[in-house]
Amino acid sequence: MALADTRFLPRERFQTLLDALIERGFRCVGPQVRDGAVVYDTVTRSSELPVGKHDMQGPGTYRLEDAGHERMFAWANGAQAIKPHLFPAREPLWSAERGGAGSIEFTPHSAAPEAVAFIGVRACDLAAMQIQDHVFLHGPYPDPGYAARSEALFFVAVNCSHPAATCFCAATGDGPAATHGYDLVLSELDNGFVLSAGTEAGNAVMAQLELDATTPAQTQAVVAQGEASISAQTRSLPSRDLRDALFNNLEHPRWDAVAERCLACGNCTMVCPTCFCHAETEEPTLDGHATTHLREWDSCFTTGHSYIHGLQVRADIRTRYRQWLTHKLGSWHDQFGRSGCVGCGRCISWCPVGIDITEEVAAITGD
Ligand code: SF4
Ligand code: SF4
Repeated sequence: MALADTRFLPRERFQTLLDALIERGFRCVGPQVRDGAVVYDTVTRSSELPVGKHDMQGPGTYRLEDAGHERMFAWANGAQAIKPHLFPAREPLWSAERGGAGSIEFTPHSAAPEAVAFIGVRACDLAAMQIQDHVFLHGPYPDPGYAARSEALFFVAVNCSHPAATCFCAATGDGPAATHGYDLVLSELDNGFVLSAGTEAGNAVMAQLELDATTPAQTQAVVAQGEASISAQTRSLPSRDLRDALFNNLEHPRWDAVAERCLACGNCTMVCPTCFCHAETEEPTLDGHATTHLREWDSCFTTGHSYIHGLQVRADIRTRYRQWLTHKLGSWHDQFGRSGCVGCGRCISWCPVGIDITEEVAAITGD
């Protein structure tokens, strides 16, 4: 069977896909509704997925609604991406303990590899993970915890059929269809899913399901749905490379205007699937005998993150917001050869005051 083969999985047989992955030793992590939002957690039954849910998103707004249909993936991303799995928000890296005669014994905390199958992952998040792989795997000092967690991942991607009003992955070139980085990819139709494999591992799972080939009508429906998902996106960025446009406008008055609204809460950086800044802290025992060294997510919006040798290099919100935007969309090109934005729109929805990165960029670059 060629990798490009497509097969049809009827909706009522979706459980067989989860069962096939579980049989192969994977813990399935998939979307489910919790506290009014779609979150990712362990899933064993297809009934746990967000069946019949649709999301309404806008600047500072996220709400789930009943859509009156049976689709499982008719929503755009919630706050979480793959990031919290591979790069946990708080992680002990090593411990140290005093020994005799002034010695100190160090013990690394190593993550055990776990076979995890992500169900329902979107194209933008696969693109974001590739950017994080650059940071944690492909630099001079690969991160052993990230590497261990990366080892046994299986991705069941879903092509977005219902982008949120905040999505602009078509403009960044990262969606709404997944083109690489998955083992299996699904396009959801009203009565089931069109499947294709991206790897031999995905191909083996698909073969095990013994599915019928897709009909021309199903293939046409997938193409039409993909085109509609692109044209449904109303937000965009003026260019995929805004490096010069932003660095030529470092004194633009819009930086002051956005700083008046920005709370420096850091939500945008916490939900951003590509942000990787972190702080390292010690958690010593009360008697000073031992300590645990932690890595925790940090944000360029905190005062501590810009504290260097006795001064804060970015003392106000204006310079911190400017740092976030000029790094994400500008100097990221120098570091990683592309923009740091995959157009997921999370920073727009989860900003408590509704600051919209696409609006700020348009105002600052004059587009
Ligand atoms: S900057 Fe905003 S839209 Fe872009 S990847 Fe980060 S959270 Fe998503
Ligand atoms: S832009 Fe919004 S989410 Fe980001 S720090 Fe400012 S107020 Fe918080």
